[in-house]
Amino acid sequence: MRDKQWFNGKNVLVIGLAKSGMAAAKVLKRLGARVTVNEAKDLNGSQEEKELQELGIRLLSGGHPLNIVDEGVDYVVKNPGIRYDTPIVKAAVDRNLPVVTEIELADIVCEGEIAAITGSNGKTTTTMLVYEMLQSSSVPSYVAGNIGKVACEVVANVQSNEVMVTEVSSFQLKGTETFHPRTAVLLNIFDAHLDYHGSREDYERSKAKIIANMGPEDTVVYNAEDPVVVEMVEHSRANLIPFSLNGRTKNGAYIENGCFCYQGEQILPVHKAALPGRHNQENMLAAMAAAVSHGAALAAVEDVLLHFDGVPHRLQFIGSFFNREVYNDSKSTNILSTQKAVEAFQAPVVLLAGGLDRGNSFDDLIPSLKHVKAAVFYGETKGKLGEAAMAAGVSEWTKTETLEEAVREAFQFSGEKDVLLLSPACASWDQFKTFEERGHRFIQAVENIQLSHLKTDTS
Ligand code: ADP
Repeated sequence: MRDKQWFNGKNVLVIGLAKSGMAAAKVLKRLGARVTVNEAKDLNGSQEEKELQELGIRLLSGGHPLNIVDEGVDYVVKNPGIRYDTPIVKAAVDRNLPVVTEIELADIVCEGEIAAITGSNGKTTTTMLVYEMLQSSSVPSYVAGNIGKVACEVVANVQSNEVMVTEVSSFQLKGTETFHPRTAVLLNIFDAHLDYHGSREDYERSKAKIIANMGPEDTVVYNAEDPVVVEMVEHSRANLIPFSLNGRTKNGAYIENGCFCYQGEQILPVHKAALPGRHNQENMLAAMAAAVSHGAALAAVEDVLLHFDGVPHRLQFIGSFFNREVYNDSKSTNILSTQKAVEAFQAPVVLLAGGLDRGNSFDDLIPSLKHVKAAVFYGETKGKLGEAAMAAGVSEWTKTETLEEAVREAFQFSGEKDVLLLSPACASWDQFKTFEERGHRFIQAVENIQLSHLKTDTS
């Protein structure tokens, strides 16, 4: 087991700078390691170069020369996004060097407890819910991950009686050896990121690492309705807390008689929760179990369920425009999340979808498309989505080039009290830098329609 002292005087190579590389390099430096950062982008004369120089950290940028792994390196921290078939990572693995991600390091230096959340979908929402529940209960806590800062940056503030709530992706988990959270949440597992992992087995093996080092003093919160998750936790020695949408689970969180319940206690009628959708009910159940295991009070849990209305770009309610309820679910980058989004509404849905073409088919979306009133598709996948809409028998649908045009068409298709839902089922990179940019552009386009309407009204 490597502890903080182990790093003193060791040669550590950080592959990939970005936010996580910078934070990891600083932690390593504080531990007394000799740190080299290797970044593919040329950073000569950059602000980052200056900052690293001032900290006494060596920077090699503009490529990944393989010989640096032979310079007496003891330990490698790589950016989670860098694939294992990248020659420099392969070279490090071939030399039997430990190759980890910054979450491993954050755990080694963390003075407090870690609540780690993983799953194919719902990580950010659940992470924020747990954090809010702990805050409302006055349990000192911090949030790390996609929202907020990377774990290696946050961890410096976390004291022994405090909790760092963090989401962990399969990319991060693959690069762990001793990672040992106090509480782990396993939300769901389905095919995702197979291009990175190479196989479903590798993806599942990576996810399972979240619980690999947990013992009887730890808590694993898991989805009792997901067979892959159930199998994963089967041999865990940790204290197991199941959650389920479908009635009572022993010692767990569940929905019974239309109420969120926790270990026999009713918390809140489901219809009073601020977050829409059954998938969010799963997130809420998981969050309550995790938060309670870190000392959250049930009254605070209830209050968060009543008021927490979501994380931006995840089924986020934008407002009522011309009596249409507009939702931004730009973070939906796969079919499952769009299925869940469509299922979340009773009112007729006009769906906007489309984006980067990864070569997959949209057949799995056909059952959900049967429930939409109308649809507008844009971006690279508009043709494929159109075929799925035809197969589903969607009576009104069309294709546009841009999201802005799609918003105009969607308003044309919609009637009063309808839901206008952006839930793309695709990554954004064909037309946008990030899903956040796509979400903001959607909101802007909706607001522009209202503005131009107001101008016509007053002119
Ligand atoms: P992640 O961090 O895992 O990507 P998010 O909370 O950011 O998860 O949500 C990503 C997308 O997945 C959103 O479109 C959201 O509506 C959907 N989603 C959230 N929770 C779940 C869930 N439990 N099951 C399926 N889809 C979900």
